[in-house]
Amino acid sequence: MLLRDKFGRRITDLRIAITDRCNYKCVYCRTGNQGPLYAELEFSEYLRLARLFVALGIEKVRITGGEPLLRHGVVSFVEDLARLRTAGGGVLDLAITTNGHLLAELAQPLKKAGLRRITVSMDAVEPERFHRITRVPHGFHAVLDGIRAAKRAGLEPVKLNCVLLRGFNDDQITEFGRFAREEGVIVRFIEFMPLEEDRVWSPEIVVRLEEILERMRDFRPLVELPHAPSETARRYQFDDGVGEIGIVAPVSHPFCGHCSRVRLTSDGKIRTCLFSVFDHDLAGVMRRGATDQQLTDYIELAMGRKEERHHIGEADFAPPSRTMVHIGG
Ligand code: SAM
Repeated sequence: MLLRDKFGRRITDLRIAITDRCNYKCVYCRTGNQGPLYAELEFSEYLRLARLFVALGIEKVRITGGEPLLRHGVVSFVEDLARLRTAGGGVLDLAITTNGHLLAELAQPLKKAGLRRITVSMDAVEPERFHRITRVPHGFHAVLDGIRAAKRAGLEPVKLNCVLLRGFNDDQITEFGRFAREEGVIVRFIEFMPLEEDRVWSPEIVVRLEEILERMRDFRPLVELPHAPSETARRYQFDDGVGEIGIVAPVSHPFCGHCSRVRLTSDGKIRTCLFSVFDHDLAGVMRRGATDQQLTDYIELAMGRKEERHHIGEADFAPPSRTMVHIGG
């Protein structure tokens, strides 16, 4: 049986956080004095759970965190995941989301292990601003080296994720346009969601899709590209065909109706939505000695409780039970 939720959505996309440790303290994500909160499973445990998910129709696995490249053994884990086959017998679409700080060294080994694609988070293209956001010195050039190493390794297309905050880095929008063109990467702007440790989110701080487009068009005209309904990003190309921009707009243009995602936290909890107010202790069930069939039943049961949509900006919005760094973005 392939995994579906009670709203009929096929679940094809699994995100596995392999740690909630992070070497960056991005101001919009972390308080700066809160460390990791949750345990990490053995890689063999993530692998067993991933195998069960894949048998249920998962086609895409993204490794995330915390910062996944901090975890020793990540390359072998990719190698093991790459051996899994989808329910239809195909290869998995295997990706990592990383802040890129350790990527320069790891890009080639990850590619060799079977990684298909990489997304690097980067919220400024000026070194000083980058430092102010991440609160780690000398990060910008390490990440730039990582991005270039990923391209050389053939982890194409390299995507950059940028979260914009009004008054903080929204003046970087056109600079990111230039960067996308010069470095040959896809820059994707992501609307800021209320998932931070510090609870600083407000609707006013979010830089919305229309505004990003307007400001980017001042730099150069954009042409919208077709995108599949299940794709989270709206895609645009500059008028001369050089440089791609994406905008992921969960706040202003929610795409919950097409959500195909499930997340596994570093401590092995299933999260059916970023904004879930509870999670499902799959690792607990596994460690109590469950068989594969019992774990599969548990996964199906949990997915039956997937939320219909998020309630960002609505009066009944309830803060999620974990913040982004402890879920896995
Ligand atoms: N450490 C890795 C990284 O930096 O990509 C993976 C984890 S990080 C939590 C995943 C992504 O979530 C990053 O692109 C980050 O910018 C984004 N993110 C964090 N907090 C967010 C928020 N409140 N709203 C939107 N995106 C957020």
